[in-house]
Amino acid sequence: MKYIGAHVSATGGVENAPLNAAEIAAKAFAFFTKNQKQWYANPLTFEAVQKFKKNCRTKNLSPDHILPHDSYLINLGNPDKTGLEKSRKAFIDEIKRCMQLGLKYLNFHPGSHKKLITENECLNLIAESINITLELTEGVITVIENTAGQGGYVGDKFEHLAFLIEKVKDKNRIGVCLDTCHTFSAGYDIRTSKAYYNTMDQFDKIVGFKFLKAMHLNDSKSKLGSHVDRHHNLGMGELGLEPFRLIMNDSRMDNIPLILETIDKNLWKKEIKMLYGFIE
Ligand SMILES: [Zn+2]
Ligand SMILES: [Zn+2]
Repeated sequence: MKYIGAHVSATGGVENAPLNAAEIAAKAFAFFTKNQKQWYANPLTFEAVQKFKKNCRTKNLSPDHILPHDSYLINLGNPDKTGLEKSRKAFIDEIKRCMQLGLKYLNFHPGSHKKLITENECLNLIAESINITLELTEGVITVIENTAGQGGYVGDKFEHLAFLIEKVKDKNRIGVCLDTCHTFSAGYDIRTSKAYYNTMDQFDKIVGFKFLKAMHLNDSKSKLGSHVDRHHNLGMGELGLEPFRLIMNDSRMDNIPLILETIDKNLWKKEIKMLYGFIE
């Protein structure tokens, strides 16, 4: 079974996210548990947590298919010591918010070396950040998102994801999220059946499908291997619709959250319907 949704707004409180998801007939959703552009947020109130859980239940949205995303400010591989400490603190707080909400996953971007340290040094800092976080928290699985490799971001190569998983001590609390736009702009083609299966085979060999916990479904404005992260609505960019048809019929993507982050939110309901329609 496929669980498709979108990264919905939580404006006015986290409890609104499941309601916004239900509005577009989503069976999964992503959201920010706090303002993603700010370092600090007030703790979640007991009332907000209760309402969130109740709304998820009434709208039939299970934590298995909910993929909260961390703040864009966090850089777990920050070469600057103060920046790294701040990021680690904020990341731990994000996990604690997920724990309070009874959630299973936290999706995050690995981090950037800002061209000040090597890729390897950056990856080691990220792995250390994850290990520190896992020791201080419980239950939540940290889900690394692959990147387009823009602006010194590591995580564009499958080998980077495998490296991080290898270094993380608790393998039960680490997974990955493949973003179709990032995969493509990082240089992995998925536009035809042949290219798609070739890329997914590589992913399986290097990372392993057992670590695939989620996907982001986005078309790409930028070209193959451009390392430029520009999302587009499905079928309107360089990817076209074929990759999404293939994903919908690939059982390896069953039972995980499949999340739209396409630019025109008004099309989400249509896109979800179209994706379900692809299933043969
Ligand atoms: Zn994404
Ligand atoms: Zn992106």
